[in-house]
Amino acid sequence: MTAGPVRRRRAFAELVERPSAQVLIIGGGINGVATMRDLAMQGVDVMLIERGDYASGASSASSHMIHGGIRYLENGEFRLVHESVTERNGLLQIAPHYVKPLKTTVPIFSTFSGVLSAPLRFLRHGAGRPRERGAALIKIGLVIYDSFSRGGGRLPRHEFLRRRRSLAKLPRLNPEIRYTATYYDASMQDPERLALDVLHDGLRAGRSPGAMGPGGAEMGSGALARAANYVEAFGVSGGGVRVRDAITGEEAVLTASVVVNASGPWTDLTNAALGRGTRFMGGTKGSHIVLDHPELLAATGGREIFFEHSDGRIVLIYPLNGRVLVGTTDLEHDMREPVTCTEEEVDYFFGLIRHVFPDIEVGRAQIVYRFAGVRPLPGHGDLAPGFVSRDYRIERATLSSTGTAQVLSLVGGKWTTFRALAEHLSDEVLGILRVRRATSTKGVAIGGGVGYPRTEKALRQWLAANSAGVGRERAARLLARYGTRASEVIAAIRADEGDRPIRDAAAYSTAELRHLAATEHVVHLDDLLRRRTNLVFTGDARRDCVRDVAETIAEVCGWDADDIEREEAAVLAMLERQGRYRVEERATSRV
Ligand SMILES: Cc1cc2nc3c(=O)[nH]c(=O)nc-3n(C[C@H](O)[C@H](O)[C@H](O)COP(=O)(O)OP(=O)(O)OC[C@H]3O[C@@H](n4cnc5c(N)ncnc54)[C@H](O)[C@@H]3O)c2cc1C
Repeated sequence: MTAGPVRRRRAFAELVERPSAQVLIIGGGINGVATMRDLAMQGVDVMLIERGDYASGASSASSHMIHGGIRYLENGEFRLVHESVTERNGLLQIAPHYVKPLKTTVPIFSTFSGVLSAPLRFLRHGAGRPRERGAALIKIGLVIYDSFSRGGGRLPRHEFLRRRRSLAKLPRLNPEIRYTATYYDASMQDPERLALDVLHDGLRAGRSPGAMGPGGAEMGSGALARAANYVEAFGVSGGGVRVRDAITGEEAVLTASVVVNASGPWTDLTNAALGRGTRFMGGTKGSHIVLDHPELLAATGGREIFFEHSDGRIVLIYPLNGRVLVGTTDLEHDMREPVTCTEEEVDYFFGLIRHVFPDIEVGRAQIVYRFAGVRPLPGHGDLAPGFVSRDYRIERATLSSTGTAQVLSLVGGKWTTFRALAEHLSDEVLGILRVRRATSTKGVAIGGGVGYPRTEKALRQWLAANSAGVGRERAARLLARYGTRASEVIAAIRADEGDRPIRDAAAYSTAELRHLAATEHVVHLDDLLRRRTNLVFTGDARRDCVRDVAETIAEVCGWDADDIEREEAAVLAMLERQGRYRVEERATSRV
């Protein structure tokens, strides 16, 4: 019997044993799990299903920025920028383990370009080809941006430098620049882990004494918040939604007074499956590459370099987890097609790196990971993709088979605004259920952000309390990786006599991964390598490492030799198929 699948099957069984709740959320991306957390905190009975792994859709494909969206000012989206800046500042407080201040520098090649076209763009509503933003336009934007930070401002104001001083600070920058503008936003180190923390908090809130299930039960099918990954909504039947366990093929019908369709870029497809086709969405694909390139890493000076490529696209180069993240594109996409980062996109990324750091060579051998996803944007007609609103809205309908259950479809929604969005969505749900909001999620720390040490003294105290058995250095590394939830990992390491470093990836250990596999809804090896750890992101998931991790968690997941082979082969095929990482080549070059 497999612990991973048992837990997952148990999660499915918890749904099936009591197949109704006040709310059913379809989609376990950040917006789905955040809405579940919010509703669970109100004492609402809520179920969530995700057809793949949690945060494996758009939520795993982002540029890792928690940002006010300075460029949305150009589209006149003041409400969104204001909300985004407020939420950014809030997340720096409630999720300090994963959301960190990010110094951002914009290299500027002209003084006025864009200023003249910007008002025109408002009038034409974004149609037409974007042009390079000049210094004056960026300056105006930054002044407004700073002003939004006033009051709740947690980050320093912007700085504008002329060419000479800019090059003194970032000497590898293209010497043709005229200015640089530097301001602060925030980066999200591990989006998938942050989403898991939100999910974890939601499930816990549904089990707290203040949120007892109908039978007063705290756990199992009586818990007020229940969630299962690898469960797909595929139809309607009688009064409910038909769901299928993707692992066992088992089917069930779940009923709820409100169904929340939070399936991101798949929202229309989910509505079609529910019997009411919609045409809300018009998502665009964006890709990224991750480079293992110490020279480029050093050239960024630890900053995000955020700029406009010659085609008017806003692109970025930035240091993350010891690697350099480069992105992104904005291309129309049909959601029925696979989403991949293409060779043309890679060429485009190399071109933009050359534009900003012309004397730094980059090549495909330095790519350790590529990823792509589709932004859940609203349909946008002939508006250029870069100008489509990043704001969100909620559409209401009734579930076709019942005529009474309400379906709320979320259209849009960035990572940055997930807390506020969840609150809005939850308010709509509460309105339908005629339930009063009991509490706000504003200011409520998330997961390993609870009690996170913010001063040297607090850090020393935390390390003193948690270093036994693992040492200070490792405790500090685990704190950086999991926030204060590291203490649970450390307890698991202490209790596991067989702990040792993972082959070829010594930053992780066997007891740590066994703990994650046992407690974090891991069903496939890929879940652990891509979304519970950053082993794939950093390119450390080489063949030996993949095999070692599979064998390490096999017992916890109940895998036999065939399962290990299958899981390992699936991961290696994924890495090779998408050209994300040349497993063989890297493996041999290390011998
Ligand atoms: C290239 C790119 C760059 C981005 N950069 C940033 C950034 O820097 N900052 C920022 O704030 N935002 C950014 N975003 C936007 C952000 O990532 C998304 O808007 C956000 O993650 C959407 O979350 P979601 O939960 O709504 O959707 P998703 O994460 O896509 O979640 C929807 C889930 O629904 C599931 N699902 C679909 N159909 C079904 C079904 N029938 N049954 C069950 N489950 C189903 C899917 O498997 C999926 O996991 C970026 C997005 C992209 C693509």
